Amino acid sequence: MKPSVRACLAALALSAAPLALAPSVFAQATEDLQVEVVEVASGVYMLVGRGGNIGVSLGVDGVFLVDDQYAVLSDEIIAAIRAISDGPIRFVLNTHWHRDHVDGNENLSAAGALIIAHQKVRERMSVEQYIEALDRRVPPAPERALPAVTFGESVTFHLNDEEIHVFHVNAHTDGDAIVHFRKGNVLHMGDVHFSGMYPFIDVSSGGSIDGMIGAVEMVLAMIDDETKVIPGHGPLSDKTDLQEYRDMLVGVRDAVAEQIAMGKDRDAVIAAKPTAAFDPEWGGVWLSPDQFTAIVFSDLARKR
Ligand SMILES: [Zn+2]
Repeated sequence: MKPSVRACLAALALSAAPLALAPSVFAQATEDLQVEVVEVASGVYMLVGRGGNIGVSLGVDGVFLVDDQYAVLSDEIIAAIRAISDGPIRFVLNTHWHRDHVDGNENLSAAGALIIAHQKVRERMSVEQYIEALDRRVPPAPERALPAVTFGESVTFHLNDEEIHVFHVNAHTDGDAIVHFRKGNVLHMGDVHFSGMYPFIDVSSGGSIDGMIGAVEMVLAMIDDETKVIPGHGPLSDKTDLQEYRDMLVGVRDAVAEQIAMGKDRDAVIAAKPTAAFDPEWGGVWLSPDQFTAIVFSDLARKR
């Protein structure tokens, strides 16, 4: 990790400690939460509140947002943006359909923003969803919260003297978008990247461990040592962090696959602790080693 990134993280650690300790993907927001603003590159920011990290592009053409966290936080998020720009909030790009990334859509749409996402995001938000790993039902979103514009493979925004290239991957869900601020050399990974912790993979929404690895490898081939990586959850990261994350994903996938190949069932695979070598670094922040093993098992076992 570069020193400048470390300095940013040190500053973040003080104010964002509750998030770092409990970045629950589906946690409800607390009312007294402060939204932290981190400058990532010229005109590109990361907002840290509760829920998925928000990306921001600012400039002469107004404000472009990546994700919008929880509806109860919309006032705080808009106030944080107003502290750095008085331009109109014109676009919100959703990285995927999970509530901790899209729950603010209705408020931001009412405030004049156009919501954009992969077509699967609109499809899933339009009807009740069931997240099997969490045994959670999510009701359909109101019409005004649905993405008004959808895309299939990619879409590019030419705004704020920036080229914002958005492309689809099938990784954490079947409708993930990765956002590349090409001039700023910044990527927003959505929940394809949980920095420093085991990631949630929504297998019941079409996600998979192989999809996660494939998407991370695609991004690694696109970026350089200067690239700043905004993860869906966790601190601002860089290429080295993403490479270590990729190696962990591959190591866990192979270890779980080896257990399945021995004919073990779910409980026996979890009991074998296939993630043990990675647990000290990745297992103490959010998902436990057993929870992550169960998710990877549920994905790999159905393919056999
Ligand atoms: Zn998610």
